Amino acid sequence: MTGVERIRVRVQGLVQGVGFRPFVCVLAGEHGVAGFVGNDAGGVFIEAEGQRPDLDGFVAALRQQTPPLAIVDQVTVETTDPTGETGFRIVASEGGALREALVAPDTAPCADCLAELADPACRRFGHPFTNCTNCGPRFTIVTGVPYDRHTTTMADFAMCAACEREYRDPHDRRFHAQPVCCPSCGPALRLLGADGLPVPGDPIMTAVTWLRQGRVLAVKGLGGYHLAVLADQARAVDVLRARKRRETRPFAVMAPDLAAAGALVHLRPEAERLLTGIRRPIVLAPRRENAAIAEAVAPGSRDLGVMLPHTPLHHLLAGQAARPFVLTSGNLSGEPIACQDEDALRRLSSVADGFLLHDRRIHVRADDSLIRVYRGRELPIRRSRGYVPTPITVPWPFPRPVLACGAELKNTFCVAKGGQAFVSHHIGDLENYETLRSFTEGIDHFCRIFGVRPAVIAHDLHPEYLSTKYAMERHEPDLVGVQHHHAHIASCLADNGYAGQVIGVAFDGLGFGADGTLWGGELLIADLTTFHRAGHLEAVPMPGGAAAIRQPWRMAAAFLDRGYGDDVPDLPVRRRYHDRWAAAVALARTGTNSPLTSSAGRLFDAVSAVAGIRDVITYEGQAAAELEARVDPAEQGAYPMRVNDGDLLVLAGSDLVRSAAEDVRSGVAVERIAARFHNGLAAAVVRAVRTLRDRTGLETVALSGGVFQNVVLLELVVSGLERHGLQVLVHSRVPPGDGGISLGQAVVAAARDRLSRCAEADPRPAHRRSWYPRKPS
Ligand SMILES: [Zn+2]
Ligand SMILES: [Zn+2]
Repeated sequence: MTGVERIRVRVQGLVQGVGFRPFVCVLAGEHGVAGFVGNDAGGVFIEAEGQRPDLDGFVAALRQQTPPLAIVDQVTVETTDPTGETGFRIVASEGGALREALVAPDTAPCADCLAELADPACRRFGHPFTNCTNCGPRFTIVTGVPYDRHTTTMADFAMCAACEREYRDPHDRRFHAQPVCCPSCGPALRLLGADGLPVPGDPIMTAVTWLRQGRVLAVKGLGGYHLAVLADQARAVDVLRARKRRETRPFAVMAPDLAAAGALVHLRPEAERLLTGIRRPIVLAPRRENAAIAEAVAPGSRDLGVMLPHTPLHHLLAGQAARPFVLTSGNLSGEPIACQDEDALRRLSSVADGFLLHDRRIHVRADDSLIRVYRGRELPIRRSRGYVPTPITVPWPFPRPVLACGAELKNTFCVAKGGQAFVSHHIGDLENYETLRSFTEGIDHFCRIFGVRPAVIAHDLHPEYLSTKYAMERHEPDLVGVQHHHAHIASCLADNGYAGQVIGVAFDGLGFGADGTLWGGELLIADLTTFHRAGHLEAVPMPGGAAAIRQPWRMAAAFLDRGYGDDVPDLPVRRRYHDRWAAAVALARTGTNSPLTSSAGRLFDAVSAVAGIRDVITYEGQAAAELEARVDPAEQGAYPMRVNDGDLLVLAGSDLVRSAAEDVRSGVAVERIAARFHNGLAAAVVRAVRTLRDRTGLETVALSGGVFQNVVLLELVVSGLERHGLQVLVHSRVPPGDGGISLGQAVVAAARDRLSRCAEADPRPAHRRSWYPRKPS
């Protein structure tokens, strides 16, 4: 043959489990080239043979078009000798030493699959496990790589002849869709009563009847079990709360469709796009006055978390119920979400009146993602199902593979190599055996499926964090301790791909400071390598230590003592705790079991208690969230807050608490107090940042830490800084809270790794290398 050439093509990125090989087959047909395509641990490999113009057209199309779920990072081409091959085929997957291919996240059913689900003439009519190459389960069912039927939990099911035909037909939408199945060969739905015995009849119809009767239903989802009750049935919601050990966190609600969601909350275009997109997170949006929702669904909250169905099963359930239902994580307060059937039946038997489940195993537990919208962009609160394991790309390659172990609360871990950081699903609070096991098994799983053998281990400085202890017990020689708030600021830099030095504002609950005290209201001059503490909120004692975290009234006592000394006025909060107040103040004054903290979270707690909103919390951040929810947006007043003029700036939080106390005494409305506090704090932060700009010449500010999930404070600070010409970096890919810490640790460890490699070339002593430049005064 004359003029025939052959090329080898390699495609890297998120290209497995997303219909890439059938897509290549179709392209090969369109361009009239012969050869084959296959998956291996490096991604997709292709050999193609044909006339040069056809090959060029084929490669150009590969670079320009992708299937809906694919993300192509790189296409490399080399020439080889023609073999005279005719036709184009898919060849078997090859396992190999390399593990470069990416695993896709779980995605919502595509329009084609939904149409089949609703079509009585289709053999998948009403089949709760319908999927294709463009949609369906991935991350939660993948047990290994390369991505193939036998490396998913669908390996338990043998395809029927009809499914196998679709699977093998290059022109079919299910060509090599690994989780392909139908009613005759796929997983089956079952309904069990509270006694664990099967209930006859249509599982979905009966399940919905039970919901209408006010029963609590456990539903096996993609990444774990949920608990469901109809959202407008006050008694059922109360029962669910009581059985979940008096859980007080707001519940999320699943609406059948966008119109139903829009009847519950005010939706802006970005929120609508998120709700109907392929990732299907819970979106927090302002709740409508007349929303048909029981009060106990989200008490004390101005927002409501809503989501749309993210699997065919949820579509069927929501369609049948035809009204919104609570869909909250299937666990008891403080435990991780149940994902194994036996475990769920045991642990949820005291909560659920029935179980809607199936026999497809969940390999990785994944909670629902939770997103707020800020200025038309995502502000992740929890990044998990639908997002994980999509890598966070960073512009600075990791010199050596890194494992970052994350924080203690809202833990995620992160494995990173090349230019990609794989931040894990939400692991939760590392406080019990079950969560710790998710953490260690999750790390092993990620290292396996992404082919990462960590050479550098990053961890928090807190010696008692279980994630820190885990890092210490590993055998890798290169351990890098990263200060908690430096990790927050670094995560914000990585989130934005920004490598320069910034003024960082890290406001959160608590983190172990570089000086061994508890930090949490920090102004840092930071880059990826190092930081310098340039200012902080006034440090106050936490009377009773951990008890002060659970009991914001104790922080009120500490702040009021700081603000008034012996003349604390007779406030309602003081009267509510008159029998314990003096003891708390005594603890604070003597320092007995009262560590000092500069935490912003504790300042919010104190104001929340003084304003009469929340004296005792049942979940982290509750007092602050409820304070934010009460803000009157029309209020322009701002409490004064002193900022000293020393080398280390100190912002006097007790000024704000004292002003709030005066307003309480004068009978000012709680909503105005909440607003004046937010306005005053934001103004002081802006003032302090401007001082640091004058001192350093830095023009960019990074805002991070869990307190910046508060969009009222966030907007006040961002707009205040922007008014003064500063560039502001906020989060949009990882949470500002502790869920983002692992990414920050990873990029700091990598930056120090890079620096140590060129340190010998730098004549300055190590502690001078990263000092920030001061403007000459
Ligand atoms: Zn589909
Ligand atoms: Zn089948």
